[in-house]
Amino acid sequence: MTRIFADDLEAGLATRAIHAGQRPEPHAGAIMTPLYLTSTYVQDGVGRNKGYEYARGKNPTREALERNVATLESGQHGFAFASGMGCLDSIMKLFRAGDHIVVGENVYGGTFRLFDKILRHFGLSFTYVDTRDAQRVADAMTATTRALLIETPTNPLMRLADLAAMAEIAKKHDALLVVDNTFATPIFQRPLEVGAHIVWHSTTKYLNGHSDMIGGVAVVLEDDLANRLQFIQNAAGAVPGPFDCWLALRGTKTLPLRMKQHDANGRQIASWLAERLGHESVIYPGLESHPQHDLAARQMSGFGGMITLELGTMARATQVLEKVKVFALAESLGGVESLISHPASMTHGSVPADVKAEMGLTDGMIRLSCGVEDVEDLIADLEQALA
Ligand SMILES: *Cc1c(COP(=O)(O)O)cnc(C)c1O
Repeated sequence: MTRIFADDLEAGLATRAIHAGQRPEPHAGAIMTPLYLTSTYVQDGVGRNKGYEYARGKNPTREALERNVATLESGQHGFAFASGMGCLDSIMKLFRAGDHIVVGENVYGGTFRLFDKILRHFGLSFTYVDTRDAQRVADAMTATTRALLIETPTNPLMRLADLAAMAEIAKKHDALLVVDNTFATPIFQRPLEVGAHIVWHSTTKYLNGHSDMIGGVAVVLEDDLANRLQFIQNAAGAVPGPFDCWLALRGTKTLPLRMKQHDANGRQIASWLAERLGHESVIYPGLESHPQHDLAARQMSGFGGMITLELGTMARATQVLEKVKVFALAESLGGVESLISHPASMTHGSVPADVKAEMGLTDGMIRLSCGVEDVEDLIADLEQALA
């Protein structure tokens, strides 16, 4: 009997999510990938081993997760890291002093912090641009630009970048297109298929989906790039432990199911909020009132559960943040449970006030990560908090 376990890109995403990268364990046939809690591997003889030497380099539980996510993204190689930021930091080690990087101005606050407070001092230079406008991105590319780093949709302003246009610009300048696909996930958006070179995630969010671990993963298509990233992964060593990989691998099995429900709840809650508060107060790419709804509908197959509200004042935002009972006030997103947050002071607390103002991030904004609870309960909770 042949079984689908390999990295079969012909299979649908739900089948890939459950099987890719995994095979029954050889001793007893355990259907679930075991937790390989080991730092080293016994060798058959000098220079003879089973392909595993030391667990910073390779761990079978980690490999299963890496192949699983690589297959979900239609990539060839996956590399897991101890956090999303650890993943990005390792990606950035592909570059060297003197290299210039063009970055979306709306990227995750921690991404901005890593670049501005740390990597800038290592001789990398960064130009931040509004990636909604392909012309501005093209204009920011220089002779020393080695990469274009984007996020779409962005957090929390839900601004989109046209992935195909970004890939074209990167290609023209011989730069790598690096996409943070944490928000949309491979279920709704497929950057490698339109020309991105590296797709990365905070697996902490939707991929794991249960808010019980921290991790990151990068996926690439090309062998040469994969070899360089694998070298960095082993040499710099920001690797995750096997248990976190095991949890994330359990999480990805239900990713397609969960995303379907996050999307259904997100759409329904966004429409309800738009009715209740007015379309101008609700930022959600799935609403026709979103200025980039057409692009969203073209390059995404779902819009997910992330919604941002503009409530006008900090006082009004605080009222809602403190009155909700089902939504929990917390950082992070993408878990099965609904969360609510205040981006200006939480996720973007490290972004300077003038930069926040410039990018349109206000004190009156709150961000919802709609979970997979009964949508009626989520709406009732928001209704009482807004009252
Ligand atoms: C959370 C997050 C990160 C950082 O990942 P960690 O796992 O927290 O290190 C990066 N990008 C986005 C879009 C995120 O939401």
